Amino acid sequence: MPRRRELGRGERVIPGLWRLRLALPFPGVPHCNAWALACDGGIVLVDTGMDEPGSMTELERAFDQVGLSVDDVRLVVCTHAHVDHWGQAATVCDRTGAQMWMHPNHEHGFAGATDPAVALARRLEIGRQSGVPRAALERYAERAREMPSGIARVIDPDRALVAGVSIESDLGQWTVYETPGHAPSHVCLFQPERRLLISGDHVLGRISLYFDYGWTPDPIGEFLESLDRVDRLDARLALSGHGKPFLDVHGHIEGNRRLVAERLGAALRAVADGPRTALEITPCLHDEPLSEANAGWWLPETLCYMRHLELTGRVLREPDGQVERWVAAEIVDSSN
Ligand SMILES: [Zn+2]
Ligand SMILES: [Zn+2]
Repeated sequence: MPRRRELGRGERVIPGLWRLRLALPFPGVPHCNAWALACDGGIVLVDTGMDEPGSMTELERAFDQVGLSVDDVRLVVCTHAHVDHWGQAATVCDRTGAQMWMHPNHEHGFAGATDPAVALARRLEIGRQSGVPRAALERYAERAREMPSGIARVIDPDRALVAGVSIESDLGQWTVYETPGHAPSHVCLFQPERRLLISGDHVLGRISLYFDYGWTPDPIGEFLESLDRVDRLDARLALSGHGKPFLDVHGHIEGNRRLVAERLGAALRAVADGPRTALEITPCLHDEPLSEANAGWWLPETLCYMRHLELTGRVLREPDGQVERWVAAEIVDSSN
């Protein structure tokens, strides 16, 4: 495990709401946020950071900087089941007796901890179908087997965090909105009087797209619908899973829509001349080259675009038993 670059940090955003910034070991994603909401002398903790050696000390340090303690936590709410958002939930709940609430479609996030071999096999199969050479897959598998899960222990949610559930706090009631796309289990929390949005990874300050592939029929379509759902809330301030709180929530939602549309367009152009694998399409969607470091993120993203284009009748899938190739539906039409 590399040395931790930074320590946990806490700061008050407004009275009764604190940002706890926690370090992550991921290149390009150095921090995540947990949010502490005052509630009747205790704290509702939204998201937890991931589990690593020393990670609880960091969470405690962040709490301590704002005059709070992990022991104040009465309820843990997770925006989604990615490790950086719920990895320490079991540790916090064990210590405080707090309940943990999460959306029931959390299998995508639990699988890596409950059955790592099956979860890895699933990722390798995505790579194989995408056209990744066998040697690169073997290197990936070797690295993946050595990586800790980031999850202290799998605990089942005490309550299903579905649309309409509300969470009490001193700032008022927060309502749950289901926002699948980034992850099948994703939810946002909205406080209507103050127009505050806890946006998780659905809408981030610095626009960055990630989608879990293979758990739901159409992550891109789901994401676009979720953007509409959140846009209608007319939030004023977003408290996101990474980065600083930000204003102009609508502008950020528009930015996400634009980037999805650009990448869908680029994906369609990439298959305009003939069948291509996800490995061949992916470099057309990004300014930086595809590498072993980003392939685990970018290939599923590409597959999500192709799946969306397939469902909307714009591309066809040509499986040849070994790899999947995608081709523009128009080419196939005109050649018939
Ligand atoms: Zn996430
Ligand atoms: Zn995240």
